[in-house]
Amino acid sequence: MAQKITLTVSKKEQLTKDIYLVTFRLVTPPTISFQAGQNMMLMIAPASAAGGPGINRTMSIASPPSSNTELLMVHDVSPMGPGSKWTVGLRVGDPATIVAPTGGALSFLPSGRRKVMVATGTGVAPFRSIMLDAFEKHDTTPMILYWGLRFEADTYWKDDFDGIAAQHPTFSWHQVLSRPGVTWQGLKGHVTENVLDQEKELAESEFYLCGNKAMIEEVRAKLLEQNVLNEQIKTELFF
Ligand SMILES: Cc1cc2nc3c(=O)[nH]c(=O)nc-3n(C[C@H](O)[C@H](O)[C@H](O)COP(=O)(O)OP(=O)(O)OC[C@H]3O[C@@H](n4cnc5c(N)ncnc54)[C@H](O)[C@@H]3O)c2cc1C
Repeated sequence: MAQKITLTVSKKEQLTKDIYLVTFRLVTPPTISFQAGQNMMLMIAPASAAGGPGINRTMSIASPPSSNTELLMVHDVSPMGPGSKWTVGLRVGDPATIVAPTGGALSFLPSGRRKVMVATGTGVAPFRSIMLDAFEKHDTTPMILYWGLRFEADTYWKDDFDGIAAQHPTFSWHQVLSRPGVTWQGLKGHVTENVLDQEKELAESEFYLCGNKAMIEEVRAKLLEQNVLNEQIKTELFF
């Protein structure tokens, strides 16, 4: 059940120009129970005494539930609204308040079907939690991740995902760049066309889509056109 939690920033790393990875250590209560793929609501600013509304932003928990004393978030601060500015200004040792866990639309269905994860940008965060949780539970369901970014310089977690793939032959992943440099050897273009080109076992797969609205609507529409059933598609929209 969602509850108010106080935290401390225990680590903050800038992974790319716009991406920050923040580790929060729980203070009160000292542990949390959640399902892989769930979210936390950051309480950025409290309601004012004059009755003005508080400011909250939802973030995916990027760490697996087994890490119940620390929570990881990966934040794209390119919008530079209140949430982004809050994260940019965070320092190790700062206190924070969240309400968690919330949501959780992307948790894997308990079927033997292949899991096809499609993310744009930080939409990859819940999939990191879900995959790590699945592997900790010795889940051998085949899983594939398509992750759309723009430039090579936007890349992070490559070593992490390569390491997971080396350790778990049931997992593979593709980074898809919409604006690659001339030396880029991987998939190019938008994730939508790449998923549809690469994926041939549509009836035996489930599709988990997370990120921006345009990608989610486009991939969903194309899958439905190809007779993928609605119940084989789960989505979480970031913006
Ligand atoms: C369920 C859920 C989970 C989320 N998880 C994450 C997460 O793990 N990591 C993360 O970085 N964000 C996540 N978000 C988005 C996050 O909550 C904020 O919307 C985002 O950080 C922008 O907040 P802001 O206050 O800086 O900008 P705002 O003032 O809220 O937004 C400014 C504008 O930017 C748009 N926008 C929001 N995000 C982006 C983006 N990434 N790129 C381009 N435009 C954008 C908004 O639609 C709006 O038009 C999640 C959102 C939802 C609903």
